[in-house]
Amino acid sequence: MTSFHAAHALLPQGWAGDVLIEVDALGTIAAVTPGTRAAAGTARRLSGHVIPGVPNLHSHAFQRAMAGGAERRSPAGRDSFWTWRETMYRFVSRFTPEDAEAVAAQLYAELLEHGFTAVAEFHYLHHQPDGTPYADVAEMARRHLAAARRAGIGVTMLPTLYRHGGIFGLPPHEGQRRFLNDLDRFARIVEGVREECDGDPQCATGLAPHSLRACTPAMIRKLSAFDGPIHIHAAEQPREVEECVAATGARPVRWLLDNVEVDARWVLIHATHMQPGEVAALAASGAVAGLCPSTEASLGDGTFALPGYLAAGGRFGIGTDSHVGTAPNLELRQLETSQRLRDHARAVATAEQNPHPGRTLLDAALAGGAQASGRPIGAIAPGMRADLVELDDTHPNLVGRGGDALLDAWVFGGQGSAVRTVACGGRVVVEAGRHVRSMAIRDAFGTAMRGLLA
Ligand code: ZN
Repeated sequence: MTSFHAAHALLPQGWAGDVLIEVDALGTIAAVTPGTRAAAGTARRLSGHVIPGVPNLHSHAFQRAMAGGAERRSPAGRDSFWTWRETMYRFVSRFTPEDAEAVAAQLYAELLEHGFTAVAEFHYLHHQPDGTPYADVAEMARRHLAAARRAGIGVTMLPTLYRHGGIFGLPPHEGQRRFLNDLDRFARIVEGVREECDGDPQCATGLAPHSLRACTPAMIRKLSAFDGPIHIHAAEQPREVEECVAATGARPVRWLLDNVEVDARWVLIHATHMQPGEVAALAASGAVAGLCPSTEASLGDGTFALPGYLAAGGRFGIGTDSHVGTAPNLELRQLETSQRLRDHARAVATAEQNPHPGRTLLDAALAGGAQASGRPIGAIAPGMRADLVELDDTHPNLVGRGGDALLDAWVFGGQGSAVRTVACGGRVVVEAGRHVRSMAIRDAFGTAMRGLLA
């Protein structure tokens, strides 16, 4: 039995002091006891403010290698999400399985250093550059799982079905060859992931129809029978909405709500472009909106309808998608400040009973992220994974603050990371703000990057 003793910890019932957190041999919390003085030497002392590790509900790990590298104006000008996607297709053609593993390990170590302790990997980079499957069709998925184990992060692997190049059945683009599967081969990849994850409490299997652009209605209906997390990109870009309306008469979120049983298993990634009726209906469905604020800003996607969605009781979590940002507090900051810019308002994500946006946003991201991950995470409570993030309350961004005011300061104040210690599944993976394997992981990443950019 491992145990931690937190000077302050955010529990489901609120902040508590002198909290003993006991963890079983598999990394699950066995007991949480506030107001306990631990005997010296029996528990790992965490003298700061301990919060639950934050789930990251949307990642394409390979895009970490592109972050900051797709910013140049294209010859025709008028750069957009769609010109960025062309750059991504050119870049993706170069990845070997070794590169994919090295880049994912670097990303996952960075996520841990910033306080994410779980990642939902929306995985569509399946095949060799010419589209031929690897000898093991699940090779690339296994590489991501190996990277997650190396870094020590929890993972929900989401093998992604990508079949077409445009709304409801258009032929694929050459740059999409590495992504493509029919339902049979896709099922074999899902099986490979299940085999690899079976019995590992740090891992779960979900699946993802990529989008209404990449899958037909029949495929989406077939995958909707899955008994676990189902993620799909929806309504990220105005052009996607226009194409969906032209093809079906309905906007993407409306089409999904009307044609598939969208419920608590579902995660709609982005859901940026919704009309008020869609906002209320998505909130009522029990699904999670998967918001990726720094990527959505980087790609010029648009701004999520947060006030209406929260007022309707909608659930959301946060993801880092293309990984131009990798810190949960900064994603939450971007989410709130984008609302302030649009509405000329402040403290948007608050309610009378909770005046602290930092706390409101964190609570939502923990609950929504846990639901989207299909794993017992997001709270410091018995039965949950021991995913703990210690914030250093002597850090200049936080010093002198406590409780929810400290969370406001973490989310909204300053640069630099105040994360000191991170445990994931009970195992300490970040000490003094650095991942315990950061040097070896960074070296392998450097080798991969030099090859990819050569
Ligand atoms: Zn995405």
